[in-house]
Amino acid sequence: MLDNLQKFVHLKRETAEINLDPLQRGGILTPEAREALMEWGDGYSVCDFCAGILDRIKNPPIEDFVHGALPEFLGTDQVRITHGAREGMFAAIHALCEKGDWIVVDGNAHYTTILAAERAGCKIEYVPSSKEPDYAISAEGYADAIERAYEHKGNVSMAVLTYPDGNYGNLADAKAVAGVCHDYSVPVMLNGAYSVGRMPVAARALDADIIVGSGHKSMAASGPVGVIGAADEYANVIFRPSSLKKNKEVELLGCTVRGAPLLTLMASFPQVVERVKRWDDEVDKARWFSAGLEKLGMVQQGDRPHNHDLMFFLAENLYEISKTAKKGRFFLYRDLKERGICGIKPGLTRQFKLSTFGLSREDLGKALAAFEEIIESHKQGAGGKETS
Ligand SMILES: *Cc1c(COP(=O)(O)O)cnc(C)c1O
Repeated sequence: MLDNLQKFVHLKRETAEINLDPLQRGGILTPEAREALMEWGDGYSVCDFCAGILDRIKNPPIEDFVHGALPEFLGTDQVRITHGAREGMFAAIHALCEKGDWIVVDGNAHYTTILAAERAGCKIEYVPSSKEPDYAISAEGYADAIERAYEHKGNVSMAVLTYPDGNYGNLADAKAVAGVCHDYSVPVMLNGAYSVGRMPVAARALDADIIVGSGHKSMAASGPVGVIGAADEYANVIFRPSSLKKNKEVELLGCTVRGAPLLTLMASFPQVVERVKRWDDEVDKARWFSAGLEKLGMVQQGDRPHNHDLMFFLAENLYEISKTAKKGRFFLYRDLKERGICGIKPGLTRQFKLSTFGLSREDLGKALAAFEEIIESHKQGAGGKETS
């Protein structure tokens, strides 16, 4: 396997002009972050002037970022850098919950929430979502789930709300959820992988005790990098120092992000702070795009009107086309690609998610026109635009 190693080198990435992939929209680097990636790309590049605590490094100004800018941005007392949202969730669960405890989790939660709980030895009681087409998560559902966990004679030590969830882009009433959970003295963690860096979200204002974000998902960073914020009461446990190694925090294994990903997160941050202020326009664009797709016969699921750029669509009409189109269910991917659009998973037609985040109305208009053209071209008798 050590012959032909050149295939690992000089690799180019193939993407289309307009990328609708929800996973990727919020992680596109700013020019400043791209510059930082080159400048700080060497391993351990941030450690030149480290005195033992990563987030206290003054040059580059990581300390000002982690202990000044980020707590204000997240509306929380203390912040640390992680490798991503999942690592933040795991750190909080592992620090605050005992093995065998129950964690109450919304039914739309990301798989990483489940794995974080599993890895920490915790059991999960779900708050089921309402059925299609809304998939809504209610605050009362949290009370019911906590009660059910009590019936198992369990100790409920955390509640997690995915805000928004990564399937439907639904934003539940986080404050109401926190209110219910606090009535049971259960701390609330917000998974802001799809919100922190895209939209205004302040833990304190939502009564959330812990918040995690994802740099590569929503903060224009190359990653892997993320943030975790917590109110002092919980931060002092999650970020507790080692009893064996001075200056090192156990839950973070001392130091987390030790190079370029953190510098990209910092370099993009001024623009991230600005883009969050334009969130209303992002929501307008999403709703406009959704209305456009619905005119073409697709049906948006989840919150209506929608409040986030991540949207899930049912497309029976595209599914019907896939039954007879050349390449079958891969026709949509191919036809979109031909028109400069990517980001819908190859092979999906009947249901898919996409994001409008950071795209201009002009580009979104092009995407709508492409869908329309594709549907037209496959109409009976049109013969299709079969190129391969
Ligand atoms: C993408 C995603 C995650 C994982 O984020 P990482 O930063 O890669 O760990 C977690 N939760 C949700 C809702 C996501 O969409």
